[in-house]
Amino acid sequence: MLTMKEVFDRFDEIGCCSFATPDGHGGVEARIAHFFAYDDEGLYLRTMDVKPFYRQLKQSGRLAVNGERTEAKVVFDENNLPLFKPGYQMRVAGEVRELSMAEVEAKAPHDRNFNVAVYDIAKYPETRVFVLHRFHGELYDYDYAMVNRDHKLHRERFAFGGDAYEEPGLRITDDCIACGTCLAGCSFKAIVPGEPYAILGERCDECGNCYHDCPAGAVEGKGE
Ligand code: SF4
Ligand code: SF4
Repeated sequence: MLTMKEVFDRFDEIGCCSFATPDGHGGVEARIAHFFAYDDEGLYLRTMDVKPFYRQLKQSGRLAVNGERTEAKVVFDENNLPLFKPGYQMRVAGEVRELSMAEVEAKAPHDRNFNVAVYDIAKYPETRVFVLHRFHGELYDYDYAMVNRDHKLHRERFAFGGDAYEEPGLRITDDCIACGTCLAGCSFKAIVPGEPYAILGERCDECGNCYHDCPAGAVEGKGE
């Protein structure tokens, strides 16, 4: 499982990400922000208490963050199909709590990122700091053209603060008759022959081809 530092570093490489919260009226809103620090408790962000983002964080206590880093912009082939360069996406979702100013100041001597936060708060006094402290997430690393490796995906899921995560990928049950139909239809090279056949979750895109093609109904979906 990724460490908190590795999760933070991946987000830090991306820079600005999409931070989404329930809007309090049955909808959801997203805006740009970034995680400025991490420690054993979680990932830290700041906003101002005059923004809807602050109100939504306080009211819901929930946050989902998504960011993506790619080598270059997408191009299209002669059939207008997209050709994505290798890249990765990070996503996390979970619970936040607001820190007191005393808590932020206490972290500053040990962490230059909190030191910067204290400086910034002095400049913008309505700034407030939150920590995403109980959350799960995923690193979704893609190389669809298999430029750097022999398979398209590498997925890693993680959880912190007592949260849980579901393993990526669909699953083949004991109803498998080992016919091999699914193997031919999986462009993600995620299926391993055997009795029963098996799916490597870290490579599986959950595209549904094996679910669709299996004559024995042996592939479990996650959609219902
Ligand atoms: S298509 Fe279904 S029955 Fe055939 S190998 Fe794959 S999972 Fe097993
Ligand atoms: S869901 Fe798609 S990617 Fe996953 S094992 Fe089946 S065919 Fe392969």
